[in-house]
Amino acid sequence: AILAPNYQIDRKQIQMIEALGHGQFGDVYRGILKTNRQIELDVAVKTCKEQDSLTTEKFLEEAYVMQKFDHPHIIKLIGICTTHPILLIMELAKLGELRSYLVANRNDFDVITLLVYCQQLSSSLSYLETKKFVHRDIAARNVLVSNHECVKLSDFGLSREIDNSYYKASKGKLLPVKWMAPESSIPNSEVIDKIENGERLPMPSPYCPPKLFELMKECWRYEPSLRPSFTQIEGSIRSILDNERSNVKS
Ligand code: ATP
Repeated sequence: AILAPNYQIDRKQIQMIEALGHGQFGDVYRGILKTNRQIELDVAVKTCKEQDSLTTEKFLEEAYVMQKFDHPHIIKLIGICTTHPILLIMELAKLGELRSYLVANRNDFDVITLLVYCQQLSSSLSYLETKKFVHRDIAARNVLVSNHECVKLSDFGLSREIDNSYYKASKGKLLPVKWMAPESSIPNSEVIDKIENGERLPMPSPYCPPKLFELMKECWRYEPSLRPSFTQIEGSIRSILDNERSNVKS
């Protein structure tokens, strides 16, 4: 097997190649993992600058969460080096963050490709839903691109197994208010006022399938119980995608 039990990896197996970006705890690198069968795997390596036990425990939380998941559209944890400096080794998404990928290739996406991304992500989110997990920071900047036809959910630093504390903002943490449901978001904020006054974003593009915009509006319902579950969203997106594909053929 590639992994030792409990995901321990020996630092000597890792070769750092280049920096990919900055994480909350330290730089993230592209690297190569040499397995004990002499196979070389491209990986992403997260580092943790601070070495005190409180910080490293927080840093490792993401790994504890990620190892529970096995889904084709969720970035996989490959392993961790637990001696200092602690490393978290993950599956590499070669094309980086979805947000910058969308901006950089603005004119190169057809509706079908964008719907394929939505379908892949809705399947990963319905998987998390069956496991009773909330990601809490779903946004294009937290989705990574493996290739032009494949995106994966990442960044489980804010995710939680559902319990009663879910709706309370943790002290001192910055939360993505504009992307949050009003009942979980900070009261008295400008965004909440607008949402409570019924304000919503318009249709994102004239190419947006009307059924997709209908689905978006259902997700933005003020009353939480009226919003679709991810399993329902996955089904709706699948049928919108099938419909678009048959339109292209005919
Ligand atoms: P933040 O909370 O600010 O998003 P973070 O600690 O969660 O930071 P990430 O956002 O996960 O860190 O990683 C920082 C950057 O490193 C990402 O924006 C991305 O460009 C790159 N990166 C992270 N993980 C991977 C990966 N598996 N494959 C490719 N690139 C990655």
